[in-house]
Amino acid sequence: MTQSKRTAQATNESLHRIFTVAEAPDSTLGVIEKEMSQNLAGFLNNHIVASKNALTDIEQDFVCPRIPEQPEFVSDHIHHLLDKLVAQSVHTASPSFIGHMTSALPSFILPLSKLMVGLNQNLVKVETSKAFTPLERQVLGMMHNLVYLQDEHFYQAWMHSAEHSLGAFCSGGTVANITALWVARNKLLKADGNFKGITRSGLFSALQHYGYQGLVILVSERGHYSLKKSADILGIGQDSVIAIETDENNKIDCQKLAQKCQQLSEQNIKVLSIVGVAGTTETGNIDPLDKMADIAAQYDCHFHVDAAWGGATLLSNKHRHLLSGIERADSVTIDAHKQMYVPMGAGVVLFKDPSSVADIEHHAEYILRNGSKDLGSHTLEGSRPGMAMLVYASLHIISRPGYEMLINQAIEKAEYFADIINQHQDFELITKPELCLLTYRYVPKSVQKFLAQHSTTTQQQADINLLLGKLTKFIQKRQREDGRSFVSRTRIEVAHYGGEKVIVFRVVLANPLTSKQNLQDILAEQCLLAQESENFLPQLLALAEG
Ligand SMILES: *Cc1c(COP(=O)(O)O)cnc(C)c1O
Repeated sequence: MTQSKRTAQATNESLHRIFTVAEAPDSTLGVIEKEMSQNLAGFLNNHIVASKNALTDIEQDFVCPRIPEQPEFVSDHIHHLLDKLVAQSVHTASPSFIGHMTSALPSFILPLSKLMVGLNQNLVKVETSKAFTPLERQVLGMMHNLVYLQDEHFYQAWMHSAEHSLGAFCSGGTVANITALWVARNKLLKADGNFKGITRSGLFSALQHYGYQGLVILVSERGHYSLKKSADILGIGQDSVIAIETDENNKIDCQKLAQKCQQLSEQNIKVLSIVGVAGTTETGNIDPLDKMADIAAQYDCHFHVDAAWGGATLLSNKHRHLLSGIERADSVTIDAHKQMYVPMGAGVVLFKDPSSVADIEHHAEYILRNGSKDLGSHTLEGSRPGMAMLVYASLHIISRPGYEMLINQAIEKAEYFADIINQHQDFELITKPELCLLTYRYVPKSVQKFLAQHSTTTQQQADINLLLGKLTKFIQKRQREDGRSFVSRTRIEVAHYGGEKVIVFRVVLANPLTSKQNLQDILAEQCLLAQESENFLPQLLALAEG
């Protein structure tokens, strides 16, 4: 019987060993670790198989609810993981995976992450993180400076102050948005005379005290769904997130926004926050932040900018102007795990006013004592990992000019992709890239011609768009199943089809390793897949014949 086949037993000795003895370099795990650290991309290419298994088939590998009574050897278990999990995961680092905001990571991230996990610091309090606390405060300062460009004295005064925070580190954009709106809510409904504030007395008393008929959040119809989650959690309800119409470039219509503010103010409904989007999730467009800041100032309400995706653009001197006005926001969300190439679990919310967090401050007896520098007194989350170290390291290793190159190249690549889509007779560009996102669809030449004719009726247009939607869905699914490449899909209103909602391919060109050839191949593959659609394509061509 070989070593690995011998039955493992949970003994005191073996339990002690798993905390003290490393797997040998020639053990299965040792070999895998070496492979991973020498060439992560190669490792992923080798171990993720483009399997056509449906999710429901894969589920069959994950059905047992019993916690094992029998321990396993690491080397046996790692085989199980490679086979059932890794092999059937998604190759997000692949240069042809251009459908979502998750992409490749720089190679230094892997060993640094191992160091971070090994140290296992808990950033909720100084007692479990020590130097990690000032480090995180510095990273928040760096990100704050990126947005608000304050001077040295400002950062000297506030960066390490116990009662202040330049922002909060969190697991991602969702929690960052919730935190920003939590601060806005508590500030708006703060203690006043006999009223103890929303924190103590709750929303109902707060509205009564201040005499508001309700609270709303205003954002464009391209706002991220995390704002609805926030409204739900903060007690004002999802329907209180009011979607303001966008123009033909997917940017909020400021006239409509101002009208809405006026109307609400007449109804005595208070705007909790106006939210600008800097890089919409679907199309990557940026709202006119400066004009929005004017409206927020006029109606005296909090102005939050959700720059989860687009915030990193501030690192590019060439493109930072696209976000001008962001420095007037009361709070800003930026996800480091998107365009800053840090692994998942790193978002920040930044506050223009470092004393904003006073309204969400929490204390406890054993930690987060009054006057302590514990980060946990100003965060929604409790125990948190030292992700700030990875952002800190990336900012040093890549540096601002390095990030600028990555951002600029991503935008250029998106422009190139838009060009070849425009030049191709069978594709239609739907939204052109402002950042590195765009949307498009496959529309055979004759159908495009038919749609462009004046004589085409609204009904004909709707029929064709319906079929085109089915075709887009068919191509997108087949491409994903074939596993060579991946684009995502979404449904958006398109101005030049009279605001009709159409299904489109959505592309995010964040991976620095995606080549022009990859992009050409993706279009070629989509053309071939379209021919395989036995239903939709012939029907479409028949419709276009009139
Ligand atoms: C990704 C994104 C979010 C949510 O961030 P998570 O990190 O997924 O929680 C919020 N807003 C925008 C605009 C985003 O792109």
